[in-house]
Amino acid sequence: MPTRTYRNRKRILVTGGAGFLGSHLCERLLRDGGEVLCVDNFFTGSRENVEHLLQNQRFELIRHDVTFPLYVEVDEIYNLACPASPIHYQHDPVQTTKTSVHGAINMLGLAKRVRAKILQASTSEVYGDPQVHPQAEEYWGHVNPIGLRSCYDEGKRCAETLFFDYYRQHSLRIKVARIFNTYGPRMHPDDGRVVSNFIVQALSHQPITIYGKGTQTRSFCYVDDLTDALVRLMDTADDFVGPVNIGNPRAFTILELAQKITQLTGSRSQLVFRPLPSDDPVQRQPDISLAKKKLGWQPCIELDQGLERTIDYFRQRTPEAA
Ligand code: NAD
Ligand code: UDP
Repeated sequence: MPTRTYRNRKRILVTGGAGFLGSHLCERLLRDGGEVLCVDNFFTGSRENVEHLLQNQRFELIRHDVTFPLYVEVDEIYNLACPASPIHYQHDPVQTTKTSVHGAINMLGLAKRVRAKILQASTSEVYGDPQVHPQAEEYWGHVNPIGLRSCYDEGKRCAETLFFDYYRQHSLRIKVARIFNTYGPRMHPDDGRVVSNFIVQALSHQPITIYGKGTQTRSFCYVDDLTDALVRLMDTADDFVGPVNIGNPRAFTILELAQKITQLTGSRSQLVFRPLPSDDPVQRQPDISLAKKKLGWQPCIELDQGLERTIDYFRQRTPEAA
């Protein structure tokens, strides 16, 4: 890669940059020589997630809510701002939809004004509770428009619509990534997502809460694999816009995940069964053929390896962990 100087250095905006995925992405972009502007309203993210980046001259942190317009000069925008865990996005569902929809309009407007390339962090939730397995990008999904998850699912679907309309109507350079369940260090310990929940419960020898029978499946992608795919997607030729699935195609049942985490942590935790939340997808598994072909990408970190790194992170933050 040619050395970047102040003359040809890319100025990159990461919205939601102080969140779990955003903070790893900021790190990666700085490592690649970019100038990174991290914008976040700290709803679920925190300064702590990016504190180690603050001394870097090429990093800047701004508190801002993307539902309001933003005027900055940048070359690329990664639009990640949006709470991602069911507990957080259901806390204020109206704000969740606003963040996806108004946030997309504001960031697309910014991209149009400064002629920036813009990438949307979309989600496997656009497939809803899918009836096609594994899910390929051509599948239109099976989504409840009025349920508890709808603020997130429909907000993200509308954001995709806006991206494609700006592409067709204004010739904007867009990229849409459909991200499947991703995990790793800096997940919020209380955000209720399955990997962080199970690890925190296992480390403190508390009961591991399985929702439903635990036979539902998910596939888990380690955060470093994910950020690599996002950067590759942003760097593809302008005629490739996606949407493209990014995730790990190896599916596990939730029970298998619980057993793995109990074993890796050496926990004395028991499994307890709790009611399944409404509209909880039964199966989810990405078809990543398109990502392989267009990005030359596939995940390379196995679940055990990624879990060990994530467990190490939480072990340092769990006082009860032996
Ligand atoms: P996260 O909650 O850790 O990060 C989201 C960030 O956005 C937080 O820092 C939060 O404070 C910020 N934010 C929320 N509303 C905002 C607003 N109105 N203005 C400015 N900032 C705001 O979640 P994450 O897992 O890092 O997810 C990042 C993105 O990736 C989200 O858009 C999410 O939908 C998408 N995604 C994540 C996953 C996953 O498994 N982690 C899967 C699919 C999609
Ligand atoms: N889940 C669980 N116990 C928990 C948290 C989650 O069994 O403590 C289940 C949840 O019902 C879902 C799966 O794990 O079937 C993944 O949940 P998560 O919230 O991580 O992400 P989702 O894929 O549902 O958005």
